[in-house]
Amino acid sequence: MPRKIAAGNWKMHGDAAALAEVDALLATFPNPTVDVVICPPATLIERMARHLDGSAIAVGGQTCHPATGGAHTGDISAAMLVDAGATHVILGHSERRADHGESSEQVRAQAQAALASGLGIIVCVGETEAERDADVTLEVVSGQIDGSIPDGVTGPGVVVAYEPVWAIGTGRVPTTEQIAEVHAAIRAQLVERFGEAGAKMPILYGGSVKPGNAAEIFAVANVDGALVGGASLKAADFSGIISALQTA
Ligand code: PEP
Repeated sequence: MPRKIAAGNWKMHGDAAALAEVDALLATFPNPTVDVVICPPATLIERMARHLDGSAIAVGGQTCHPATGGAHTGDISAAMLVDAGATHVILGHSERRADHGESSEQVRAQAQAALASGLGIIVCVGETEAERDADVTLEVVSGQIDGSIPDGVTGPGVVVAYEPVWAIGTGRVPTTEQIAEVHAAIRAQLVERFGEAGAKMPILYGGSVKPGNAAEIFAVANVDGALVGGASLKAADFSGIISALQTA
């Protein structure tokens, strides 16, 4: 069975005061029975990692550069994330693909660098609303997976997050049938490409997951957890999602 994961993507939110939310989460879940990862802005990674040192809650980055170092102003290498205390990194988020023009080929290079540095990767894929309306969702998602995940990867450190772009931050959520269709297709593709390792790679759903809809989403086949944006910022909300995953 794939691991269950609740991952929080804080995006460009959070400062030192926001670490109080992490303390509250830790107080509620001193020993979570699912994997919990929080991916704050880069400026908070080290402080958050210190806060969570010795706990079961992990810290991740939101992207990394494929190179190990060099003249790349504003970028951060995978090894730097590790040095700051991160154990995971989100790659290919639709906001990175849209705002920074990241292609699947670039995401694949980032993934190779992250895995080589020992980071677990959460690779995001998902269709736009226009692509869903054009009935090409499965082709788009399959192409992004093919392009973004390096060949020959093994082990549970590879996680896929299916995030329909139109569901991110909008309060709109696909039907459970739509989620089931895409997750089943992703699972089949991972197994075909990576065999037994592909059967164990967690597939997260992301896009307007809230405490109120989490249980219904986690009951869908091949949904192994969630990548959560807005609702991961407040411990009270993220706790409801983690609880739903623990009992799913
Ligand atoms: C995300 O940014 O990955 C995300 C899923 O955001 P939200 O939960 O706010 O829709």
